[in-house]
Amino acid sequence: MSKINLLGCEISKLEQMMIERGQKKFRATQLYTWIYEKETLSFDDMSDISLRFREELNRDFTLSLPKIYKKQESKDGTIKLLLELEDGAKVETALMPYRYGNAICVSSQVGCNMACAFCASGLLKKQRNLETHEIVGQVYVMNQLLKEKGERVSHVVVMGTGEPFDNYENVLDFIRIINHPKAFAIGARHITVSTCGLVPGIMRYAHEGMQTNLAISLHAPNDEIRNTLMPISKAYPLDKLMEAVKYYEKEADRRVTFEYIMLKDVNDTIECARQLVKLIRGTKAYVNLIPYNPVDENSFRRSDEENVHRFFSYLMQHGITTTVRKEFGNDIDAACGQLRAKEQHESH
Ligand code: SAH
Repeated sequence: MSKINLLGCEISKLEQMMIERGQKKFRATQLYTWIYEKETLSFDDMSDISLRFREELNRDFTLSLPKIYKKQESKDGTIKLLLELEDGAKVETALMPYRYGNAICVSSQVGCNMACAFCASGLLKKQRNLETHEIVGQVYVMNQLLKEKGERVSHVVVMGTGEPFDNYENVLDFIRIINHPKAFAIGARHITVSTCGLVPGIMRYAHEGMQTNLAISLHAPNDEIRNTLMPISKAYPLDKLMEAVKYYEKEADRRVTFEYIMLKDVNDTIECARQLVKLIRGTKAYVNLIPYNPVDENSFRRSDEENVHRFFSYLMQHGITTTVRKEFGNDIDAACGQLRAKEQHESH
């Protein structure tokens, strides 16, 4: 039987495992304290645990992390890592130093099946879901790097490669682990999950009872444009998506953020802004306008700054809280999937 990686054990599941082993429930939080607070990845160092139980832990569990395969650091402090997993698969993770804290962008799958036309991540079809410990591992490794500067990861966005709601259980366990007070204790309001619009996932997430943020990749004000950008739109057209958003707002009592990449001559006209206002009226949503990170493999271009500004003003004037995403790491391969895509390209 292969060993269980403890970094992927959500607390209630770990407590159950401890009880099944004839241990007390508190062993679980004790292990969390060693792993996350004292940053110990060796059972042998866990001095308040009996020698016998430490042997049992060594026999049945591991605490292994993904390996840093490649590291890029930008002048603005952005860190991009290409991590190698146990089976040799590689995933990207990025750290963005905002004024308010250090935000990490984690991947949830190896490759992605959503096939959004503008995205570099989808160039590799989904190979597999990431295990919970492989997502937690991304935060753990980044924290190890930040420790040298006396800093920590304070915000988490699940916006790297993959569709989080296509790996629902593992992403949920990941969120519960990083949010746990004895683990990284990252506040729910500092955690954002981004989905391309998997309606069943949104409905389910509405009932998790979490104060996390939900972002939805909208990118178009009507089905016609959205169908050309995001194949998922054919399975879940905008009327269904908007219903799910309203359901989520009501059940979870949270507002969502719509992400909207500004693509030149595709979705950035004032007519699009007008349709967008109409579409999201009746929700409490915010809009986050995203500057496009050009990808070699397609011909999408970013909107001119002037257009972004006009679009932004139109939304604001019509009562929609709108922000424009700050950009990081322009001097490195900062857009999702770029580093891994390049790596594959070079090695073939
Ligand atoms: N699958 C999820 C999460 C991963 S993508 C989702 O679709 O939301 C995270 C965000 O980055 C999405 O809004 C996605 O549309 C956007 N994105 C993808 N490629 C991009 C690019 N080249 N430039 C800017 N944003 C991009």
